[in-house]
Amino acid sequence: MMMWFETGVALAAAGVYYSYRYAWWRPALSYSFPRILMYHMIKKHQGGKFRGLRVSPKIFEKQVKYLAENGWHFFTMRELITQRESLPPKAIALTFDDGYEDNYTHAFPILQKYGAKATIYLVVERHGREWSSKRKSKNNSGELMHEPKLTDAQIEEMLASGLVEIGSHTMTHDNLSRLDEKGKHHEIADAKRAIEERFGIRCDAFCYPFGIFDEKDAALVEAAGYTNATTTQAGIDDLRSADLYRLRRITVSGKDNFLAFWLKLRTGKRGVKK
Ligand SMILES: [Zn+2]
Repeated sequence: MMMWFETGVALAAAGVYYSYRYAWWRPALSYSFPRILMYHMIKKHQGGKFRGLRVSPKIFEKQVKYLAENGWHFFTMRELITQRESLPPKAIALTFDDGYEDNYTHAFPILQKYGAKATIYLVVERHGREWSSKRKSKNNSGELMHEPKLTDAQIEEMLASGLVEIGSHTMTHDNLSRLDEKGKHHEIADAKRAIEERFGIRCDAFCYPFGIFDEKDAALVEAAGYTNATTTQAGIDDLRSADLYRLRRITVSGKDNFLAFWLKLRTGKRGVKK
């Protein structure tokens, strides 16, 4: 008798835990609202920090395959914005922040295999640069600095495929909240010009480093001529009514199992908190 009671209590506790962790009861948001997914590295995590930033190639392929086979339509950020009044249901944009080399070596072959489009937010001066400490000084491990970044030739090859759009993630991935007007202008406007001149393209999409920005930064992004900007805030927006300079995204973490990925696609978040 006692054991049954204890089992019951344990099951109820597990139920509460999974309900809180996965919020499975939440209804899916309308599929007329496009999903914007945020990735960083497509690479197996082998110790160190930033496990969430690394989604293994095997898991990434599983996710892209699922999307391709379940009626999702891939768009780059520019396409998502210019076609926002007439998007089909289940429109999705894959975005990659920073410009890691594995976006080319690991993600690009998978994008090609499934005909999936993506947008890469490039840090213009990305090689050999430590930026994780710009948010919290204790992050100064040099780990992200040592991660290889995309070469210009790799970017050109991806651009030529028609599957990849290059957006801007500033000149140096600085923390905008610590810069004066001149510094902000350099990070935001000069990065757009540098990308456009280097690759002979239009650079319309912007992404705030660390997701940190204020009213003024959003206005500077718009004044620089970008047509849209993404944040790190978790969520899904209706592009017909959203502020295009503070778009929310769905964080795909290397810690997510497939259930978490699936739930995030439905509601923008995995559980009650994230
Ligand atoms: Zn970044």
